[in-house]
Formats: sequence, C-alpha cells, structure tokens
Amino acid sequence: MKLLIIGGVAGGASAAARARRLSEDAHIVLFERGPDVSFANCGLPYYIGGAIVDRDKLLVTTPERLRSRFNLDVRTQCSVEAIDRTAKKVRVRDASGREYDEAYDKLLLATGAAPVRPPIPGIDLPGVFTLRNLQDADRIKERLDGGVKQAVLLGGGFISLELAENFVRRGILTTVVEKNDQILAPFDKEMTTPIVRELAAKGVTLLLSQSAEALEQTVEGLVVCLSSGPRLPAQLVVCGVGVRPENELAVDAGLEVGPRGGIRVNEQLQTSDPNIYAVGDAIEVKDVSLRVPTQVPLASPANRQGRVAANNIFGHEVQYRGTQGTAIVGVFGQTAAITGASEKSLRQADRPFGKIYVHPTHHAGYYSGAEAMTLKLLFDPTTGRVLGAQVVGGAGVDKRIDVLSVAIQAGMTVFDLEEMELAYAPQYGSAKDPINMAGFVAGGLLRGDHPQISVEAVLATPLAEQPFLLDVRTPQEFESGHIPGAVNIPMDELRSRLGELPRNRKIATYCQVGQRGYLATRIMLQAGLPAVNIGGGYKTYKLYSSCPTKSFLCRAGEGPKVSLRDARRELLERT
Ligand SMILES: Cc1cc2nc3c(=O)[nH]c(=O)nc-3n(C[C@H](O)[C@H](O)[C@H](O)COP(=O)(O)OP(=O)(O)OC[C@H]3O[C@@H](n4cnc5c(N)ncnc54)[C@H](O)[C@@H]3O)c2cc1C
Repeated sequence: MKLLIIGGVAGGASAAARARRLSEDAHIVLFERGPDVSFANCGLPYYIGGAIVDRDKLLVTTPERLRSRFNLDVRTQCSVEAIDRTAKKVRVRDASGREYDEAYDKLLLATGAAPVRPPIPGIDLPGVFTLRNLQDADRIKERLDGGVKQAVLLGGGFISLELAENFVRRGILTTVVEKNDQILAPFDKEMTTPIVRELAAKGVTLLLSQSAEALEQTVEGLVVCLSSGPRLPAQLVVCGVGVRPENELAVDAGLEVGPRGGIRVNEQLQTSDPNIYAVGDAIEVKDVSLRVPTQVPLASPANRQGRVAANNIFGHEVQYRGTQGTAIVGVFGQTAAITGASEKSLRQADRPFGKIYVHPTHHAGYYSGAEAMTLKLLFDPTTGRVLGAQVVGGAGVDKRIDVLSVAIQAGMTVFDLEEMELAYAPQYGSAKDPINMAGFVAGGLLRGDHPQISVEAVLATPLAEQPFLLDVRTPQEFESGHIPGAVNIPMDELRSRLGELPRNRKIATYCQVGQRGYLATRIMLQAGLPAVNIGGGYKTYKLYSSCPTKSFLCRAGEGPKVSLRDARRELLERT
C-alpha cells in the first residue's frame, strides 16, 4: 500500500501517524508545501502577543521526528500541483522547482483552508497580512517589533478577536472592523453582548456594520478606508474575514465539491473517487444537529477526521459522525463557547425550537471567586432533545459547553440534563450545576410548570399592547435599572399585594435571572392570575437591549453606546 497525504498539519499529520500505527509495511508519503509540519496554528495569536515566548513550542512535532518515530516519508516544501486520477499519480514540485510524479494506491487530501483576501484596492500592500502559519506569524511579529501604534483587524471572528487581545496586551490601539452587525458569526447576536462589553472595557474599538472598501499607503503608514466614510490610520492591518477550502486540486481532478467549495465526502471520508479521501477544513461535513451539509474549519474535527480516514484506508471501517461546531474563544477575561445549532441556524432551517437562558455562577456563590456566566439552551419543543447551546462568561464556561456537546452527541434531552450527576465541591461547581439549572428551566417549560414569554416578544410588542410588566426584585435592584414600564412589587411582598395586580391582563413578571420570576409566576397562577415569566429575567433583557446595533460602536472604557457620529469625529481627529 502506498498512501500519499497532501497537507502535513492537523488532518494530514494525524492521518499519517494513525496510518503508520495500522500498517508497518505501508509506504506513507506526507507532502507539505510549507517548511513545517504539525504546527499549532491555534497558538499563533498568543505567540504574536508574547504569551507563548518560545517559537519552537508551536512545533508540535518536526519532520525529523515524524521520520524517525513513524518512519514517514516527509517531504516539506513540496507542493502537489495536480492529481491524475486515471493513472493514480500526483505531480509534485519541490523547493528547487523540480517537478516529478508520484504514484499512489490511496490518496488523502488534507489541504486545509486559506484565508480570504477580499478583492479591494490595496489589499496586497506591505503591512496588510493574513494569519495561517508560522511564517505569517513571524511577519506580523516582526512588523509589531518594528513599532506599531495602531492596528486594524478586518473581520470580527475568532482569530481577529484573539489577535485583538494580543495586540492590546502589546499596547497597540486596536480597531476591529466587522461588516455584519455582530461579531463571532456562529453565535446568536445577544450572546455576543458580554464579549462586546469586554472588548470595549479593554479599549478595543469595534466598528460593526462597517466594511473596508480600500487600503491606502500614505507617508505616515496605512489607511483603511471604510465604506461609510471614516479613514482609519494603521501601521498594520490583519485580514481575518474568513477562510475558503483549498479545493483546487480536487476541483481540477473532477472530484465533487459542495456549493461553498468543500470537498464532498461520504461517512468514511471518501471523496467521489473511492481511492481518494479528504479531511479537515477542506471538506464539507454533515451538521450533527441540523443534518445538512456544512463547513466547519476547526482543529478538533480535522484531527479526528485524519484518524477516521486512516482507519478506513487500512480496512478498519469507521464512520465520521458529523460535526457540531463545538468552539470556544477567550477574549481577555471572558470566554464564549458554542456547540450544536444556534437560534439563527434553526430559524434559517425553519426548525421549531424552544430556548431558555440561565445566569448561574461557575461554582457555589458562597465560596469566594464565583464568576458569572450566561447559558443559552436550544431544544426540540416536542421531545426536549438538546439541539444547541452557547455559554458566555468567566471561569467554567469550557466545562459546561463540553458537557452540553456530549449531551448533543448522545442525543440527550433537557430531562436528562435535569438528572445529570456532575462533580461538586464548592470551589468547582454547585450542587445544582448550571447544566442541571438549564435542564430544570427547560424541563419545567416543556411540562407546562411555568409559562414563559421571551424578552424579544416583550420588546417587539408595542407599548400600548404590552402585558403588565411586574418586576419582583428589590427596590434597590429596580432603581438601578428595569424594563421601561415595569411596576415593582418585591417578591417577598407579592403574596400580600396580589390585589394590586390586574385580573384581565396578562402579567409578565421578571427578576434578575428568572428564578424569583418563576416563583412569582407559580404564586400568581395559583391565585388565578394570568402570569408568565420573562425567560432569563433582567439579565437576558440586558443582553438584548445593550447589544450594539449597526448605529453604535464601542470605544475604550465607554461601553457599546457611543454614537457613530462621535466615533467618526474621534476617528477623523486621530487621522
Ligand atoms: C491563527 C489560527 C488560530 C486557530 N485557532 C483555533 C482554535 O483555537 N481552535 C480550533 O479548533 N481551531 C483553530 N484554528 C483552525 C485550525 O487550525 C484548523 O481548523 C486546522 O488546522 C485544520 O486542519 P487541516 O489539516 O484541515 O488544515 P491545515 O492545518 O491548514 O493544514 C493544511 C496544510 O496543507 C498544506 N497544503 C495545502 N495545499 C497543499 C498542496 N497542494 N501541496 C502540499 N501541501 C499543501 C498547507 O500548506 C497546510 O499547511 C485556528 C487557525 C488559525 C489559522
């Protein structure tokens, strides 16, 4: 068996190592266009920022090690230029420019995805970068070391936000320009509010619904020209507007690709040619929750797919179950994580869903250092099956998203979350973990224990038609902010003041996070009052109401409510 692997990083190197473990006899050749194999792309922003000091630590392994330990024929700085499927060979160009053919029995494409460079004037100017590999990181770092005061990041995705944090740590005035009206596209917009606040608090300027239409070189440096007018000065621009599958070899060879360019594979990760397999960012995968084809450029799927493909190539038949997009990003002190379907994707797919929000702390509140989080759970409204989740907050977000990721894989329901037994001691969790809490709220909703109304439904209703809004928090909490039009009757006075409430109008009650609102709803329902609880309480209301829209942006320390006019003035002054 002669196996050729194109691409020597996450998917390719993982497949190569697995292949060797399965067959000592196979001739396994790993072609990599760049000088490194198996490097940690995910660590690059932190190397640029200085959190990772030693560059060598980013080299998970080296070509020499792959040769000596795995007896792999590793050929770096060798680019595969074409596939001849009929003759079962590939054309290779090495570092010296020499071209040769290499025959295969089986071929694996692990070519990854390339950063998109939008076709705007000036995109190729010196000082405009993308970030994919160590050489890109070296170039960006060198530029920063040369003295950069202002940087602009195009795109508000995972890599841009990680870079924003690292640039700020290096004392660089950083602006993120995002053409959509939200950052972190896979998330539902309201769940990005804490991250927007965090960026603002740490001095990152965030321009939403803005796009760069040109980049210019002036004597002072680069200028990013926004379509809405402002011109942003910068000595460095990084373009992080997304990636596209590196599918040229596959397309030229006539392999099937999906509408967004991902190489089509079956459950064995075999392309439309049974002798050619494909893995990683280059392929189209099945979305686990929605059961539709999608593309998910993440390291964990790429690594696992490499293993699955190698198993299948060497006769250990296994199926790739699909990808659910479990992802996590740290932005200064906040973490945002997602798994499975989002509300947005469920709406797009026209799928019915239920949703709840809880706002617990990551461990027992009585033990010092408890950090807040917001957990949004999406589930099937009939069966209660968990469809997706997003968690944003401080410590403990990673643990909860992983539990929910497993719950989705295992086909669990919200009722299973109620019953889930999780490790508890005060410094680690709560006797009722955030996962249980989410299960209780969602399970109660499905059982009809506590009718709920969503914050958006309240916000979307004209004032005159709105339900009677009852705030059951303390007067102090009410004074520090409440939903406009709400009346305050503190929870502990509610039983004695039921007579003050209307009998012929729906009563929408809320507290800070939904718990006292739930109790209030139960009391009112049993007293014959038409009560509903506003899901997730005032904290959820704040997620929606302080989520910046296209006419706002945030600026150092001022939160997201700075008008675009003020921002333009500031930007002009800076120019
Ligand atoms: C800065 C950065 C941060 C990231 N952070 C995270 C993170 O925190 N978490 C996460 O899950 N994911 C993260 N990712 C994404 C993750 O790195 C990718 O999903 C993963 O590396 C994909 O693996 P892959 O094998 O498909 O492609 P890659 O790792 O991109 O490897 C493909 C390789 O194929 C080579 N190649 C392509 N064409 C040819 C050819 N014709 N001939 C020879 N060689 C070729 C390329 O040079 C490349 O090295 C990050 C990515 C970047 C760039």
